Amino acid sequence: MAVTPQPAASPGSTRIGFVGIGNMGHPMAGHLIRAGWKVTVYDTAPAMTRAFVDAYGGEVASGLAELGATSDVVITMLPDGKIVRQVAMGGSDNLVKGLRRGAAIIDMSSSAPVGTRELGAELKAKGIDLLDAPVSGGVKGAVAGTLAIMVGGDEALAQRFDPVLAPIGRRFHIGALGSGHAAKVLNNYVSAAGLVAAAEAVLVGQRFGIDSQKLIDVINASTGRNNSTENKFSQFILNGKFNSGFALGLMAKDLALAMEVADACDVPAELGHACLELWKQAEKAVGGAADHTEVARYVNEHSSRSKG
Ligand code: NAD
Repeated sequence: MAVTPQPAASPGSTRIGFVGIGNMGHPMAGHLIRAGWKVTVYDTAPAMTRAFVDAYGGEVASGLAELGATSDVVITMLPDGKIVRQVAMGGSDNLVKGLRRGAAIIDMSSSAPVGTRELGAELKAKGIDLLDAPVSGGVKGAVAGTLAIMVGGDEALAQRFDPVLAPIGRRFHIGALGSGHAAKVLNNYVSAAGLVAAAEAVLVGQRFGIDSQKLIDVINASTGRNNSTENKFSQFILNGKFNSGFALGLMAKDLALAMEVADACDVPAELGHACLELWKQAEKAVGGAADHTEVARYVNEHSSRSKG
């Protein structure tokens, strides 16, 4: 549907609301303030907004309708799409109650692609635009302002809000609404599979008598290297820290969403479904709040148990 051309967002004329000041939202909203944007934040955990204002300044809203009323565009960085829907238009307090017609929501969470399309249509009926703009690059990329941002939605709308996203990372316009979310969960499927493949290889190597760090070093100089071998094993796994800042439950959620998309597109994705099963078992064993790198420990321990 055509969108009335509007001037690009700018720090002088566009007020930003930011909902979800967690591991990712905190540094992302911080970059906006540093770049000169007027930012008001909201989070159900008051400790998160306090920590944010102490670090960067900005305003805190006491509720969602209040945040909507003082924002031209609201960014959401929440655990999943169901919570984004609740925040946008559910319950007794929500963004739609405060947002003016012509305002926009940019969902940067890793949400379900189909749910995003449905939410977009419902918001459109209320005169509010929606873009999906999930990210990849982890807390490290969020802190550095170098996230990959996968934008879905009307291209003119994406261009209008491109200056808002610029301080957060590199923007890639993927396609229609929901396609950013689809690209994100498909990326995380590849990432989750790569992490488990490397964890299994390290375990086999150990049992064969190969030092784990030596195996990771040689894989990183060889064709099996991936983001997990390069940026997770030495940094968070082999040293026993397990503190990357991305929860195991969130990765399992992304993988489930990727398989939902695969099913909807009639692709069997056998490896993906086997991988999802393993991540679900790991979540059951260690809890969704554990760091996602704990999946390597799970692979290790689970495999010991099955050996008796
Ligand atoms: P997080 O749990 O650290 O942060 C989520 C924040 O949302 C919390 O502060 C929580 O209090 C707040 N919140 C929850 N429900 C709320 C509600 N109803 N209203 C207002 N605030 C609410 O999670 P995170 O790691 O920052 O991840 C956020 C999103 O980004 C997820 O969708 C995740 O999959 C995605 N993501 C995370 C990473 C990572 O490395 N952590 C990387 C890429 C994408």
